[in-house]
Amino acid sequence: MIDPSRPGFQAAALVRGPTPPVVRTKSAIAGMVRDWRRAGHSVGFVPTMGALHAGHLRLVAEAKARVDRVIASIFVNPTQFAAHEDLGSYPRNESGDLAKLASVDCDLVYCPTLEEMYANGNTTRVRVEGVARDLETSFRPQFFEGVATVVTKLFHQVTPDIAFFGEKDFQQLQVIKALVHDLDIPVEIVGVPTVRDPDGLALSSRNAYLTPSERSLASHLPALLAECASRISNGADISVAVAGCAESLLLAGFRQVDYVEVRHPATLERLPSPRLDPGQSARLLAAAWLGKTRLIDNVGVERAAAPDESMKS
Ligand code: AMP
Repeated sequence: MIDPSRPGFQAAALVRGPTPPVVRTKSAIAGMVRDWRRAGHSVGFVPTMGALHAGHLRLVAEAKARVDRVIASIFVNPTQFAAHEDLGSYPRNESGDLAKLASVDCDLVYCPTLEEMYANGNTTRVRVEGVARDLETSFRPQFFEGVATVVTKLFHQVTPDIAFFGEKDFQQLQVIKALVHDLDIPVEIVGVPTVRDPDGLALSSRNAYLTPSERSLASHLPALLAECASRISNGADISVAVAGCAESLLLAGFRQVDYVEVRHPATLERLPSPRLDPGQSARLLAAAWLGKTRLIDNVGVERAAAPDESMKS
């Protein structure tokens, strides 16, 4: 089997094999999962919007290592797009996606139709507070309501034991954790580290929108985040470090910086003090535009613990 976590892994290099079975209705997915449960199998779930890359495949590989049967879903969810966003042009390639899922031994693919998900005047929406405030919500106010609604529906349809989400979308991961906790949905949420291209750019379906010259500038985002994280880990003033990072992104050729912020790694609240305390960890999150493409990324930040005085001779 191909290992998508291997450094330098390129999704395009995948060989075609027989594709996993595809189901498109709620009743079909429920039937498959019921049969697996009767046979004593545990079920893992990887929700996606398709246009798959090695980041998605890493989630499937992680799921394969933890459960007996893995379901990936492909559904471009209209309720998380604003009217001016890229719903119509979002990349779609179902046959290519199925070949990639075959390469990581995915057991079943759920591709519900739009009607299956949102037919008959479906107007109920799920809204998460707390971790969903600020950051992405300040720039995409509709986004998490759409994500929380579709993920709640998918969890009820698929009823997985464990679901896998990328740290690439770090705020989204915290929103999903809050959602299942608050609504008592019996599924374990596992976060999976971000898969990156060799130059550090986080893989994303939307990277396909970048022109060649934008693509060569894009790696400044992870590089500048790493530099900023290192300064903060070494005790720099957080607001000075993030302002410097935002300025450097603009100088590097980014058109606009939506935010560069350091937040609590679980609650995503603002930190109370201007610097990290020794031993304290946090998350550095950013969103910035290269031309017409909005990139998001994030990294962990941790300040080394102070040396133990009692160990000094
Ligand atoms: P999407 O298809 O973009 O909605 O993403 C589906 C899932 O893949 C989400 O849980 C994402 O966080 C995850 N994902 C997207 N890009 C990456 C990446 N580069 N590394 C790891 N996971 C990712």
